[in-house]
Amino acid sequence: MIDEYECFYCIVDLHAITREYEPDVLKQRVFDMAVSLISAGIDPERCTLFVQSHIPEHTELTWLFNTVTPLGDLGRMTQFKEKSAGLESVNAGLLNYPVLQAADILLYLADYVPVGEDQRQHLELSREIARRWNARFGEYFPEPETLVGDGGRVLGLDGVAKMSKSKDNIIPVLASPEETVATVRSAVTDPARVRKDDPGNPHVCNVFALHDFFTDPVEREDLGIRCQTATIGCVQCKLRLAENLNDRLSPIREKAAELNAHPERVHEILQAGADRASLIARRTMEHVLDSMGLGRDAVSA
Ligand code: SF4
Repeated sequence: MIDEYECFYCIVDLHAITREYEPDVLKQRVFDMAVSLISAGIDPERCTLFVQSHIPEHTELTWLFNTVTPLGDLGRMTQFKEKSAGLESVNAGLLNYPVLQAADILLYLADYVPVGEDQRQHLELSREIARRWNARFGEYFPEPETLVGDGGRVLGLDGVAKMSKSKDNIIPVLASPEETVATVRSAVTDPARVRKDDPGNPHVCNVFALHDFFTDPVEREDLGIRCQTATIGCVQCKLRLAENLNDRLSPIREKAAELNAHPERVHEILQAGADRASLIARRTMEHVLDSMGLGRDAVSA
Protein backbone atom coordinates (compact mmCIF):
# COMPACT_ATOMS: atom_id res chain seq x y z
CA MET A 1 0.00 0.00 0.00
CA ILE A 2 2.83 2.37 0.87
CA ASP A 3 4.23 2.44 -2.66
CA GLU A 4 0.84 2.66 -4.34
CA TYR A 5 -0.32 5.72 -2.38
CA GLU A 6 1.21 8.65 -0.56
CA CYS A 7 0.57 7.45 2.99
CA PHE A 8 0.13 9.29 6.30
CA TYR A 9 0.12 7.36 9.57
CA CYS A 10 -0.97 9.23 12.66
CA ILE A 11 -0.64 8.07 16.27
CA VAL A 12 -3.90 9.32 17.73
CA ASP A 13 -3.04 10.47 21.24
CA LEU A 14 -5.84 13.07 21.19
CA HIS A 15 -8.37 10.29 20.74
CA ALA A 16 -6.74 8.32 23.56
CA ILE A 17 -7.49 11.05 26.12
CA THR A 18 -11.26 10.66 25.72
CA ARG A 19 -10.86 7.85 28.27
CA GLU A 20 -9.37 7.90 31.75
CA TYR A 21 -5.59 7.98 31.43
CA GLU A 22 -2.32 8.80 33.15
CA PRO A 23 -0.17 11.41 31.32
CA ASP A 24 3.11 9.56 31.90
CA VAL A 25 1.61 6.27 30.74
CA LEU A 26 0.22 7.98 27.64
CA LYS A 27 3.66 9.36 26.73
CA GLN A 28 5.14 5.88 26.98
CA ARG A 29 2.30 4.35 24.97
CA VAL A 30 2.76 6.87 22.17
CA PHE A 31 6.45 6.04 22.05
CA ASP A 32 5.73 2.29 22.13
CA MET A 33 3.19 2.66 19.33
CA ALA A 34 5.77 4.47 17.19
CA VAL A 35 8.28 1.69 17.89
CA SER A 36 5.69 -0.98 17.02
CA LEU A 37 4.67 0.68 13.77
CA ILE A 38 8.22 1.27 12.56
CA SER A 39 9.26 -2.26 13.58
CA ALA A 40 6.25 -3.76 11.80
CA GLY A 41 7.29 -2.15 8.52
CA ILE A 42 6.05 1.45 8.40
CA ASP A 43 9.06 2.88 6.60
CA PRO A 44 9.51 6.59 7.44
CA GLU A 45 11.48 7.01 4.21
CA ARG A 46 8.41 6.09 2.18
CA CYS A 47 5.55 7.54 4.23
CA THR A 48 4.77 10.16 6.87
CA LEU A 49 4.52 8.97 10.48
CA PHE A 50 3.64 11.49 13.16
CA VAL A 51 1.79 12.07 16.42
CA GLN A 52 -1.63 13.72 16.19
CA SER A 53 -1.10 16.25 19.00
CA HIS A 54 2.12 17.49 17.37
CA ILE A 55 -0.03 19.07 14.66
CA PRO A 56 -2.41 21.61 16.28
CA GLU A 57 -4.35 21.91 13.03
CA HIS A 58 -6.12 18.63 13.88
CA THR A 59 -7.93 20.26 16.80
CA GLU A 60 -8.34 23.54 14.93
CA LEU A 61 -10.14 21.83 12.05
CA THR A 62 -12.17 19.71 14.49
CA TRP A 63 -13.71 22.85 15.96
CA LEU A 64 -14.62 24.17 12.53
CA PHE A 65 -16.10 20.81 11.50
CA ASN A 66 -18.16 20.78 14.72
CA THR A 67 -20.09 23.70 13.29
CA VAL A 68 -21.26 21.69 10.25
CA THR A 69 -21.87 18.38 12.09
CA PRO A 70 -25.41 17.63 13.29
CA LEU A 71 -25.51 16.62 16.95
CA GLY A 72 -27.97 13.83 16.14
CA ASP A 73 -25.43 12.16 13.81
CA LEU A 74 -22.88 11.99 16.63
CA GLY A 75 -25.34 10.54 19.12
CA ARG A 76 -26.22 7.78 16.63
CA MET A 77 -22.64 6.49 16.27
CA THR A 78 -22.46 2.86 17.38
CA GLN A 79 -19.04 3.33 18.97
CA PHE A 80 -20.25 6.29 21.00
CA LYS A 81 -23.16 4.24 22.30
CA GLU A 82 -20.85 1.33 23.16
CA LYS A 83 -18.14 3.44 24.78
CA SER A 84 -20.53 5.63 26.76
CA ALA A 85 -22.75 2.75 27.95
CA GLY A 86 -22.50 2.33 31.70
CA LEU A 87 -20.37 5.46 32.24
CA GLU A 88 -21.54 7.74 35.02
CA SER A 89 -20.31 10.81 33.22
CA VAL A 90 -19.66 11.03 29.47
CA ASN A 91 -17.18 13.67 28.30
CA ALA A 92 -17.92 15.70 25.17
CA GLY A 93 -14.70 14.41 23.61
CA LEU A 94 -16.20 10.95 23.37
CA LEU A 95 -19.16 12.35 21.45
CA ASN A 96 -16.96 14.47 19.18
CA TYR A 97 -14.45 11.65 18.63
CA PRO A 98 -15.56 11.04 15.00
CA VAL A 99 -15.33 14.77 14.19
CA LEU A 100 -11.67 14.66 15.21
CA GLN A 101 -11.33 11.59 13.00
CA ALA A 102 -12.84 13.53 10.09
CA ALA A 103 -10.29 16.29 10.73
CA ASP A 104 -7.44 13.71 10.83
CA ILE A 105 -8.48 12.48 7.40
CA LEU A 106 -9.60 15.62 5.62
CA LEU A 107 -6.71 17.79 6.82
CA TYR A 108 -4.56 15.84 4.36
CA LEU A 109 -7.30 15.73 1.70
CA ALA A 110 -7.12 11.94 1.84
CA ASP A 111 -8.88 9.97 -0.88
CA TYR A 112 -8.71 6.59 0.89
CA VAL A 113 -8.57 5.44 4.50
CA PRO A 114 -7.53 1.89 5.49
CA VAL A 115 -9.94 0.98 8.27
CA GLY A 116 -11.39 -1.98 10.13
CA GLU A 117 -15.05 -2.89 9.60
CA ASP A 118 -16.03 -1.14 12.82
CA GLN A 119 -14.81 2.21 11.46
CA ARG A 120 -17.00 2.23 8.35
CA GLN A 121 -19.70 4.28 10.09
CA HIS A 122 -17.18 6.89 11.24
CA LEU A 123 -15.79 7.15 7.76
CA GLU A 124 -19.28 7.66 6.38
CA LEU A 125 -19.61 10.57 8.83
CA SER A 126 -16.32 12.02 7.53
CA ARG A 127 -17.78 11.89 4.03
CA GLU A 128 -20.93 13.61 5.27
CA ILE A 129 -18.88 16.33 6.98
CA ALA A 130 -16.90 16.87 3.77
CA ARG A 131 -20.17 17.13 1.79
CA ARG A 132 -21.70 19.58 4.25
CA TRP A 133 -18.60 21.78 4.42
CA ASN A 134 -18.26 21.77 0.61
CA ALA A 135 -21.94 22.65 0.16
CA ARG A 136 -21.62 25.60 2.56
CA PHE A 137 -18.16 26.98 1.71
CA GLY A 138 -17.26 25.66 -1.76
CA GLU A 139 -15.99 22.38 -3.20
CA TYR A 140 -12.67 21.52 -1.54
CA PHE A 141 -12.60 18.31 0.49
CA PRO A 142 -12.64 14.91 -1.25
CA GLU A 143 -15.12 12.31 0.04
CA PRO A 144 -12.70 9.67 1.33
CA GLU A 145 -13.35 6.01 0.60
CA THR A 146 -12.62 3.00 2.78
CA LEU A 147 -9.92 0.44 2.08
CA VAL A 148 -10.78 -2.65 4.11
CA GLY A 149 -8.17 -5.41 3.92
CA ASP A 150 -8.28 -9.12 4.90
CA GLY A 151 -7.92 -8.17 8.54
CA GLY A 152 -11.00 -5.91 8.46
CA ARG A 153 -12.56 -7.62 11.45
CA VAL A 154 -10.28 -9.62 13.71
CA LEU A 155 -11.86 -10.97 16.86
CA GLY A 156 -10.05 -10.91 20.17
CA LEU A 157 -9.18 -13.88 22.34
CA ASP A 158 -12.74 -14.07 23.65
CA GLY A 159 -13.91 -14.78 20.08
CA VAL A 160 -16.74 -12.26 20.52
CA ALA A 161 -15.51 -8.65 20.52
CA LYS A 162 -13.07 -7.20 18.01
CA MET A 163 -9.42 -7.31 19.02
CA SER A 164 -8.90 -4.10 20.94
CA LYS A 165 -6.39 -2.74 23.43
CA SER A 166 -9.13 -1.01 25.41
CA LYS A 167 -10.95 -4.35 25.72
CA ASP A 168 -7.70 -6.04 26.74
CA ASN A 169 -8.31 -8.98 24.40
CA ILE A 170 -5.25 -8.61 22.17
CA ILE A 171 -2.13 -10.59 21.35
CA PRO A 172 0.63 -8.01 22.03
CA VAL A 173 3.09 -7.76 19.14
CA LEU A 174 6.04 -6.89 21.38
CA ALA A 175 5.49 -9.51 24.08
CA SER A 176 8.08 -12.24 24.73
CA PRO A 177 7.61 -15.64 23.02
CA GLU A 178 6.63 -17.16 26.38
CA GLU A 179 4.05 -14.45 26.99
CA THR A 180 2.61 -15.06 23.53
CA VAL A 181 2.22 -18.78 24.27
CA ALA A 182 0.45 -17.95 27.56
CA THR A 183 -1.80 -15.39 25.86
CA VAL A 184 -2.82 -17.72 23.04
CA ARG A 185 -3.50 -20.52 25.53
CA SER A 186 -6.19 -18.34 27.11
CA ALA A 187 -8.12 -18.01 23.81
CA VAL A 188 -11.69 -19.29 23.61
CA THR A 189 -12.22 -22.22 21.21
CA ASP A 190 -15.17 -24.26 19.92
CA PRO A 191 -17.29 -24.58 23.09
CA ALA A 192 -18.47 -28.05 21.96
CA ARG A 193 -14.95 -29.43 22.54
CA VAL A 194 -15.06 -30.12 26.22
CA ARG A 195 -12.70 -33.11 26.10
CA LYS A 196 -9.78 -33.79 23.78
CA ASP A 197 -11.65 -36.67 22.06
CA ASP A 198 -14.69 -34.50 21.19
CA PRO A 199 -14.58 -33.63 17.49
CA GLY A 200 -14.45 -29.85 16.97
CA ASN A 201 -15.74 -27.43 14.37
CA PRO A 202 -12.90 -25.17 13.21
CA HIS A 203 -15.35 -22.87 11.44
CA VAL A 204 -16.78 -21.65 14.76
CA CYS A 205 -13.36 -21.47 16.41
CA ASN A 206 -11.56 -18.13 16.62
CA VAL A 207 -8.18 -19.82 17.10
CA PHE A 208 -8.65 -21.42 13.70
CA ALA A 209 -9.57 -18.02 12.22
CA LEU A 210 -6.29 -16.63 13.61
CA HIS A 211 -4.37 -19.52 12.04
CA ASP A 212 -5.54 -18.05 8.74
CA PHE A 213 -3.21 -15.07 9.22
CA PHE A 214 -0.15 -16.84 10.61
CA THR A 215 -0.13 -20.48 9.50
CA ASP A 216 0.64 -21.72 6.01
CA PRO A 217 -2.45 -23.03 4.20
CA VAL A 218 -1.28 -26.69 4.11
CA GLU A 219 -0.71 -26.82 7.86
CA ARG A 220 -3.95 -24.95 8.52
CA GLU A 221 -5.96 -27.42 6.45
CA ASP A 222 -4.31 -30.32 8.29
CA LEU A 223 -5.16 -28.73 11.67
CA GLY A 224 -8.77 -28.32 10.56
CA ILE A 225 -9.06 -32.02 9.63
CA ARG A 226 -7.37 -33.11 12.85
CA CYS A 227 -9.75 -30.90 14.85
CA GLN A 228 -12.79 -32.45 13.16
CA THR A 229 -11.47 -35.98 13.73
CA ALA A 230 -10.38 -35.27 17.30
CA THR A 231 -6.79 -36.23 16.54
CA ILE A 232 -5.42 -32.98 17.90
CA GLY A 233 -6.29 -31.21 21.13
CA CYS A 234 -6.93 -27.49 21.48
CA VAL A 235 -3.78 -27.00 23.58
CA GLN A 236 -1.60 -28.40 20.80
CA CYS A 237 -3.48 -26.44 18.15
CA LYS A 238 -3.00 -23.22 20.11
CA LEU A 239 0.66 -24.02 20.62
CA ARG A 240 1.13 -24.26 16.85
CA LEU A 241 -0.56 -20.87 16.47
CA ALA A 242 1.69 -19.34 19.14
CA GLU A 243 4.81 -20.82 17.50
CA ASN A 244 3.81 -19.48 14.08
CA LEU A 245 3.02 -16.10 15.60
CA ASN A 246 6.39 -16.00 17.33
CA ASP A 247 8.17 -16.89 14.06
CA ARG A 248 6.36 -14.08 12.26
CA LEU A 249 6.85 -11.55 15.05
CA SER A 250 10.48 -12.36 15.81
CA PRO A 251 12.04 -9.89 13.28
CA ILE A 252 9.60 -7.19 14.42
CA ARG A 253 10.61 -7.76 18.04
CA GLU A 254 14.30 -7.60 17.13
CA LYS A 255 13.82 -4.31 15.33
CA ALA A 256 11.82 -2.96 18.29
CA ALA A 257 14.62 -3.87 20.71
CA GLU A 258 17.06 -1.99 18.47
CA LEU A 259 14.83 1.12 18.43
CA ASN A 260 14.24 0.96 22.18
CA ALA A 261 18.00 1.04 22.63
CA HIS A 262 18.13 4.22 20.51
CA PRO A 263 15.02 6.26 21.41
CA GLU A 264 16.52 9.35 19.77
CA ARG A 265 16.00 7.69 16.38
CA VAL A 266 12.29 7.30 17.07
CA HIS A 267 12.00 10.94 18.15
CA GLU A 268 13.82 12.06 14.99
CA ILE A 269 11.43 10.06 12.82
CA LEU A 270 8.39 11.55 14.56
CA GLN A 271 9.85 15.05 14.31
CA ALA A 272 10.50 14.68 10.58
CA GLY A 273 6.99 13.27 10.12
CA ALA A 274 5.45 16.18 12.02
CA ASP A 275 7.43 18.70 9.96
CA ARG A 276 6.12 17.20 6.75
CA ALA A 277 2.53 16.76 7.96
CA SER A 278 2.55 20.32 9.29
CA LEU A 279 3.25 21.81 5.85
CA ILE A 280 0.19 20.15 4.34
CA ALA A 281 -1.99 20.77 7.39
CA ARG A 282 -1.19 24.50 7.38
CA ARG A 283 -1.93 24.76 3.66
CA THR A 284 -5.33 23.15 4.19
CA MET A 285 -6.13 25.38 7.15
CA GLU A 286 -5.24 28.53 5.21
CA HIS A 287 -7.80 27.56 2.58
CA VAL A 288 -10.41 26.55 5.16
CA LEU A 289 -10.05 29.69 7.28
CA ASP A 290 -10.14 31.92 4.23
CA SER A 291 -13.26 30.17 2.87
CA MET A 292 -15.01 30.50 6.25
CA GLY A 293 -14.14 34.19 6.65
CA LEU A 294 -11.81 33.52 9.55
CA GLY A 295 -8.19 34.24 10.45
CA ARG A 296 -5.96 37.32 10.36
CA ASP A 297 -6.29 37.80 6.60
CA ALA A 298 -10.08 38.05 6.92
CA VAL A 299 -9.75 40.97 9.38
CA SER A 300 -7.15 42.89 7.40
CA ALA A 301 -8.90 42.40 4.03
FE1 SF4 B 1 -10.17 -24.63 17.61
FE2 SF4 B 1 -7.95 -25.92 17.13
FE3 SF4 B 1 -9.45 -26.58 19.24
FE4 SF4 B 1 -10.28 -27.11 16.80
S1 SF4 B 1 -8.47 -27.96 17.80
S2 SF4 B 1 -11.51 -26.19 18.43
S3 SF4 B 1 -9.49 -25.37 15.65
S4 SF4 B 1 -8.35 -24.66 18.91
